[in-house]
Amino acid sequence: MERKKVYLLFSGGLDSIIAAKLLKDLGFEVIGVHITSPFFQKNLEDLKNLAKELGINLEFIEAGDDYLEMLKNPVYGYGKNINPCIDCKAYMLRKIKELAKGNIIATGEVLGQRPMSQHLDAFRKIEKLSGLKGKVLRPLSAKLLPQTVYEEEGIVKKEELLDLKGRSRKRYPEILEKLKINLENLPTPAGGCLLTEPIYAKKVKDLMAHDELTWENVKLLKIGRHFRIGDCKLIIGRNREENRFLRKHKKEEDCVLWTPSIPGPTALLRCKKTPESSFLKIAAEIVARYSDAKDRPSVEVAVEKNDKLIDRLTVKPNFNTEEFSIR
Ligand code: SF4
Repeated sequence: MERKKVYLLFSGGLDSIIAAKLLKDLGFEVIGVHITSPFFQKNLEDLKNLAKELGINLEFIEAGDDYLEMLKNPVYGYGKNINPCIDCKAYMLRKIKELAKGNIIATGEVLGQRPMSQHLDAFRKIEKLSGLKGKVLRPLSAKLLPQTVYEEEGIVKKEELLDLKGRSRKRYPEILEKLKINLENLPTPAGGCLLTEPIYAKKVKDLMAHDELTWENVKLLKIGRHFRIGDCKLIIGRNREENRFLRKHKKEEDCVLWTPSIPGPTALLRCKKTPESSFLKIAAEIVARYSDAKDRPSVEVAVEKNDKLIDRLTVKPNFNTEEFSIR
């Protein structure tokens, strides 16, 4: 089979830029594949512009429910926070494999650059888990790695690839110059992986512990202050934009709490069943604490469901929120 197409895992970071340009200059048709999810958000327009500048095609694949299933129980565990890097890479490569249909699959990984997922043993595990043993080309470190099937078949020549190792970026200026990559002219999509952030990781763990890990709930993790009250989750908007977002994303069974007689936040109370009155009271007390009337002895909090007022509670602002706070 004449394999001239390369499906490259494309994050938009420097290493994937170098891999794309290197392979393109060697005469391959490069198709960058970017996996999207609320966990690793990049500006898609920036990515499209970057691909255009590099002269490569770009495909997007949205991580599905199978990503969440993997996240709950990764074969090779988590990194420092809730980042299942080896399983995550294998997931991404499995998705690319479906698209690549036997063409070359490549990544911009550098040997020894990251502690969990970029050492030889991790590369082997990723390939085994994705069913791509010997079929992942890593052009940035290829000279230091075992032969891939592409090198064995003579489709790719090892000597034309690189021998980068470790975290140092000392050799990058020389490589960029050789490949005629001018970073100043390229859009650089910002954004890292939220699963590596400690506070975010706690919120994901909380969803897992309560069997609530769905994309719908994940989308709310970046919004507001988060509290756990029994089997209820309370999210309090921190500004007008977040207040609006929470209202817009409420579900039929959610309660919306707000302070009708004084400026204050909008809050979403999401429970598995109708919230116990004691949970509702605690939620109202926390909402009162973030209102403009927090210094008053009591604050009125309205409770809505399906856009209908269902309760009005007069509560004392609760400043002792530590036991409920998820952070
Ligand atoms: S840092 Fe995040 S996106 Fe990257 S491999 Fe790890 S879990 Fe996946």
